[in-house]
Amino acid sequence: MKRFKADLHIHSALSPCAMEEMSPPAIVEEAVRKGLHMIAICDHNAAGNTASMQEAAGTAIAAVAGMEVTTVEDIHVVGLFPDAAKACSAAETVRANLPPLSERAKRFGQQLLMDAKGRVVGTESKMLAASSALTLSETVNLIKRHDGLAIAAHVNRPSFSVMSQLGLFPPDVGFDAVEIFLKPNAVPPFGSEHFHGLSVVSSSDSHFLFEIGRCATILEVAEPTFDELVQAIKGIGGRRCCCA
Ligand SMILES: [Zn+2]
Ligand SMILES: [Zn+2]
Repeated sequence: MKRFKADLHIHSALSPCAMEEMSPPAIVEEAVRKGLHMIAICDHNAAGNTASMQEAAGTAIAAVAGMEVTTVEDIHVVGLFPDAAKACSAAETVRANLPPLSERAKRFGQQLLMDAKGRVVGTESKMLAASSALTLSETVNLIKRHDGLAIAAHVNRPSFSVMSQLGLFPPDVGFDAVEIFLKPNAVPPFGSEHFHGLSVVSSSDSHFLFEIGRCATILEVAEPTFDELVQAIKGIGGRRCCCA
């Protein structure tokens, strides 16, 4: 096994709260510069930039197609998928459960679809910052049906996490892993490897380029691929992961 550094929660310019600078090629360049071997693009309730992100990544870095769903309970769930097609298919269901973009929300931020060169090729007309109508359980099941990993996002944050919204960690929802956000050199609030029996990952939740890699996960795997990531998160075949 080898050790690889991964940042599995990065927003692109498709998320209204992310900066326009978060284009596929700029994210790849910054991630490579920071020494990361794997990234995941997780826009709010959308996966429309995942294919261009993978095209921009080429062989420079492994780019996983993801999405950060907001459930009806206002819980953020990160879904990581085997490919952009499966991410986009899951995102279609989420999109059907979102309200249209209001005039007020348009002022909050743009929702830019970009190609691999970072050129704007369209905009999203649903309100990605809104909660979807999907429950937590429906969201996890949707991710699983698309062969994805369902990760409880930033559980140590005081908002939009399972802990903040439910007051406890639901044991029977079917999460594959738990994500924490750690400030540099901070000690994890619970062990760095397991929480309620699940693997723990640490991700940056970047909305700006400079935030990429500010916290990360170490993967002990044969190579930085989605299949190996799944095995590391499930602790299969000697693969493992822990907070960097
Ligand atoms: Zn979030
Ligand atoms: Zn996020």
